[in-house]
Amino acid sequence: MKKLILLAGLAAIPLLGSAQKLPLSSKQLLHDIKVLSADSMQGRLSGSEGSNMAQEYILKRFAEIGLKPFNGNYRQHFKLESRRLTVDKATNLVGYIQGKSSKAIVVSAHYDHVGVRNGEIYNGTDDNASGVGALLAAAAYFKKNPPQHTIIFAAFDGEELGLQGANAFLENPPVALEQLILNVNMDMLSINNKGELYASGTHHYPQLKPYLQQVAALPHAKLRIGHDRPEQGTDDWTSQSDHFQFHKRQIPFVYFGVEDHPHYHKPTDDFNNINPTFYADAAALVINFLILADSGLSERKAVK
Ligand SMILES: [Zn+2]
Repeated sequence: MKKLILLAGLAAIPLLGSAQKLPLSSKQLLHDIKVLSADSMQGRLSGSEGSNMAQEYILKRFAEIGLKPFNGNYRQHFKLESRRLTVDKATNLVGYIQGKSSKAIVVSAHYDHVGVRNGEIYNGTDDNASGVGALLAAAAYFKKNPPQHTIIFAAFDGEELGLQGANAFLENPPVALEQLILNVNMDMLSINNKGELYASGTHHYPQLKPYLQQVAALPHAKLRIGHDRPEQGTDDWTSQSDHFQFHKRQIPFVYFGVEDHPHYHKPTDDFNNINPTFYADAAALVINFLILADSGLSERKAVK
């Protein structure tokens, strides 16, 4: 009898079981990453025609999945100024799923990349069509399995030009900053030969570590925790992607990403060079973490 009760309890998170069924459609995930990093997107530089095309695709997927827009519009425009270029109308794409609680988790991934250089297209499949694909997969999962917390899905622009989309989002947030309890940022999830996905941030926010430790390894990807200690120098990833903007405002974050690889910021960061089975499992690990964090964070005492 006890066993039955235990199983009933576990049924709330059936995807962590021994069947290893993924909480996502690998086919859809691979389709999304392939489309977003096709040559036609021209490397998705902020302000470019390729960026517009990527936006249209992400907006179509937001609508298909059924994310709600804030104030009737998924687009959040902002002025982007960097040494390399100025974009009057840079664009974050933001939608949400209402939870039982108005406290919100922000799931983020930047969709911009570095464009075309010397006639070569930098497709940025791993960096960061992979994160956007996983974001869409997480949105589809939580649309079907309503979360406790409100989950805001933010595809940021301008990361490559100084984490500017995340900054603009937090300067003009759709809900009060005090309502944001966690940022889960994804940047580079699809290339790793060791089957390792890093979860970074628990050095700063140790209360999040138990949730990460509960995420079961999958056949092609397992979580490792680290890359967040100041003494690690450039191997400390705290400031290296959009989660830093949340961290600067004392909003806890977990950043998911792979260690550097030879295709990083090269024209060879292309769909042909990703590890598809690793990528699907890596995205699933992030979703499984989100399931645990969403159900657990409301009971803060249980965390300690
Ligand atoms: Zn990136």
